[in-house]
Formats: sequence, structure tokens, C-alpha cells
Amino acid sequence: MALLATGLGVIPVAALGPTMGGLPRPDMEPVYPPEDAGYHSYEEMVAEIRQVASDHPDIVRLSSIGETYKGRTIHLLRISDEPDRDEGEPEVLFDALHHAREHLTPEMALSIIHLLTDGYGTDPRITAIVDSRVIWVVPMLNPDGLAYDLRGDPYRGWRKNRQPNAAGESIGTDLNRNYGYRWGGTGASADPASQVYRGAAPWSAPETRAMRDFILSRRIDGRQRIRTLITFHTAGELILYPYGYTYADRPSDMTALDERTLRTLAETMAASNGYVAQQSSDLYLTSGGKLDWTYGRERILGFTFELYPSGGSGIDRFYPPDELIVQETQRNHEAVLYLLEQSDCPYRVIGKEAGYCGPFFDDLEVGRGWLVDADGTDTATGGTWQRGVPEATNLSGPKQIGAAVSGRAAMATGRKTLGCASCNDVDGGVTTVRSPSIDLPASQPTWLRLRYTLAHTDSATPEDGFRVVIVSEGTRTVVFQDLATAVDRDGKWQRLKLDLAPWDGRRVQVQLEAFDMGAPSLVEAAVDDVRVTLP
Ligand SMILES: [Zn+2]
Repeated sequence: MALLATGLGVIPVAALGPTMGGLPRPDMEPVYPPEDAGYHSYEEMVAEIRQVASDHPDIVRLSSIGETYKGRTIHLLRISDEPDRDEGEPEVLFDALHHAREHLTPEMALSIIHLLTDGYGTDPRITAIVDSRVIWVVPMLNPDGLAYDLRGDPYRGWRKNRQPNAAGESIGTDLNRNYGYRWGGTGASADPASQVYRGAAPWSAPETRAMRDFILSRRIDGRQRIRTLITFHTAGELILYPYGYTYADRPSDMTALDERTLRTLAETMAASNGYVAQQSSDLYLTSGGKLDWTYGRERILGFTFELYPSGGSGIDRFYPPDELIVQETQRNHEAVLYLLEQSDCPYRVIGKEAGYCGPFFDDLEVGRGWLVDADGTDTATGGTWQRGVPEATNLSGPKQIGAAVSGRAAMATGRKTLGCASCNDVDGGVTTVRSPSIDLPASQPTWLRLRYTLAHTDSATPEDGFRVVIVSEGTRTVVFQDLATAVDRDGKWQRLKLDLAPWDGRRVQVQLEAFDMGAPSLVEAAVDDVRVTLP
């Protein structure tokens, strides 16, 4: 066995495992001063999570999401009853140390790791959580910054990463201003010398790219498996929810359902730890923050916890004495367990479980794996289905409605106007779009519910219209059809509720079809809020 000589002695290479990027370098890794020895340096954190992984091989897997600017491994733990297998369980992400000086945050991550692993098999509540969830933990996103911070006297108050900027400019990017949703707006700086420097471009920091790529890797069959997350920061004793980029409580890129759910989850967690729940922008405006991207792009219901202390000023507030670590991390255990428990159906907390936590729900605000022309047999020459914000058209009344039912996006035929009402409507045949697979339970009847609009001019015929088709095991069944007549019909959202009983216990896909056959006429259709619900 190859051996490496290190400052700690001789470590068999094999014992390092596949997750240590590069060699251990204790001679280079600074540690905490003796009075704060209860905190974990990067190397001590790595040793601890490796110990946890080896103590709990049945439920823990250690890997990484990538490397920092200086090549340190950014570690990732997966905690689940089947750590090597995807069971389709709801997933939850905890991360810490976007900001180097926020020393309490990796301790919070380690505390969660111990809570879940030590309690597994003995505490029924924790056992149930680990058995039914996939829990991801990134304990230190910015170890480069931490190492630099620890080389101060005793600390430097360093916040950013350690990536150089242009020659002669200050070092570092604020990782929590470098995410790619509305990057570059108010609440971040374009000045490399600033503590809140946003970076040269969205995702310019290797650490945020690693986080992005990991989160995107959890999109499976087009659907994001991570339902909720907490990103740990200090300080302020706050629980923040999206958005940070705007003061608006519910801008168009947030649905009313999600806004109520985020607020209720935050308030319930805050009641358990004595923090204050508020929208992120109520603290101050930020742009390029993690929560905005994870909600705005991936619809993960995420929270920033600003840990102890609530007050204080200057950099001392980032460096509480290590005697407080246990108290101030355990203080959040109930909130963490509560969020884990609600993550199979976050809408339960506002009483919307029956309507929104069935086998399928898509508000169509982000891409979730619908396929246009899945069979390659579509004949339409224009106005094919597109998910996005529909643009309004008007020809003797509204034809394509420029508003969605929820949020701002929908599935619409030719969502852009291209200059006139009849420039981008359905023409020349049929356009189809197919949902991802939906597994229907065998034991309970289910209903397909959606909102749709169909509009046409008085030149339409019954060869034009809108259909809903169930595709299952290679067969297609028309379950709803709205055929046009030779009248002028304006766009208007309508409710549809269809019985899926014939497919109990089967795997199905929902296919939306809009068609303009025969002589051309103006035909527009749109769909929003597709759900399969239980009774
Ligand atoms: Zn922070």
C-alpha cells in the first residue's frame, strides 16, 4: 500500500477514500486558536465527516460537489436509508459557510449530521425521517476563505472566497451574490474591493458552479427532487425566505401558493427557535443570492438561517466563544426536523395537501420535463406548444391571454405574438406536448385537473380545437375534447376535472393537443396548473 508522509504521521492512501481531492496538507491548513478549539477547521471537519461515514455505512455516503478555487474538496454527505439507490424520496439540502467568517455555520451542519446519524435506529422520529427522505449536507462551501480567515490574529473577518480578480484588484467574490438569478441587480457590488462583490459574471466562482451543478444533477426526469433547503449564515437570529432581489411580497415570479407556504414554514420554524421570520429583502436587498436562484429557477422552497447572535456589531459577532456551539446549534434542531418532516408535502402547512400533493402537480413556472412532439408525429407548421410567459394577442377580443392562472408562466401555443394576433397561432395541423411519467396509485381514484383556454375566430371549424389525451403503455386515449365552431371565441381560463379511474395503478403521461386542421383559422390554446389529485 502506498504511503504518504504528512505532518500527522503516515496515512494509508486507501484510507483517504475517493473523496479527498488531492493530498492532505495539515502543514498548510490553519487551525483554530486554543481558546476556540471547539470549532472545526477544514481538516478537522473532513476528519469528522469521514468518521461519521465510517461509523454509519448503512445510511451515510461521503462524496463531493467539486473543488474550490484553491483545489480544496467541497464535501457532500448523503444521509438516507438507501444511500446508494434513488427511491424517488423527497430530498432536502443543508449547506454552510458561503461566507468564510461565519464560523458557527459548519458547526450547525455537523450538528445536523450527528443528530440524524446518532438518532437513527433509536429515536423513532429521526428514524422515520431518514427512512423517508434523502438528506444532503454541504458542511463547508468556502474552506479557502476559512483558511484565510484563520490566519488572522486570531481572525480577519474575511467573507468572500479566495479567487483573484483582475491584476491589482482585491481578491475574492461574495459567493452569495454570484448565483445566476437576476444577478447584477441592486444589493450586490460590481467593485472587486467590496465585501459583497458579485463576481465578474454569474457563476464566475468555482464554488457556486459546484453548488449549481450539484443541484441541477438532482433534476431527474425533468423534476427537481430537492424540495426544501436551509443555507446557514450568521448572524441575526433570522429565518429568511425568498426573494432577496425585490421588496415585493409576491412578484410575478412567485406563486401565491408558494408565498404562503414559504411564509408559514418560516414562521413555524421561528416559533421553535425564537428567531424572527421575514422575507430576505426585509433584511436588505440582495441580488445573485442562493435562495433567489434555487426558488426562481428550481422552485426549491429555501430558507436562510442567520444564526446567533441577534445583535452586536463589528466582526466580533461572527466569532462567538466555542462554549456556545452546542447551545446555539441544538437550538435549531426542532426547526430542522420540522422542515424535514414537511418536505414530502410543503403545502400541507397551509392546508393544501389534498389539492397539491397528489401524484402530480406542475404550475408550469419552470421547465419540468414536458416534451413537445414526443412521438415525432406532429403536423403543425406554426404555433407549437411552448412553456413560458404568454404574450397577449387581441383580434376582436383577447385570443392569447397574456396572464397565467398561477405565477406568470403557462404552456401556450406559440407564446410570443411575433407581431400580430394570427402570426403565431396554431397552423397546419396538430401540436402536442407530453408530461413526464406519473405513477397513479392502485388503491385510490385520482383526478386530472387543469386550467385551459381555447380561442378562435369565426372562421374556425370542428376540425380545430383542444384535446387532453392519456398516454399509457403505448396507447392513447382522448379523455377530453373541445372542438371549435364557426363563432368568434375569446380566450378565458376554464377548469377541467377528468376521472383517471381507468388507469388506477398504472403509469401514465398527460398529453395536451391543439390543432388547426382543414382551412387555416386563428386557434390559440393554453394550459396552466396541471394536477393529479387524490380524493
Ligand atoms: Zn453570510
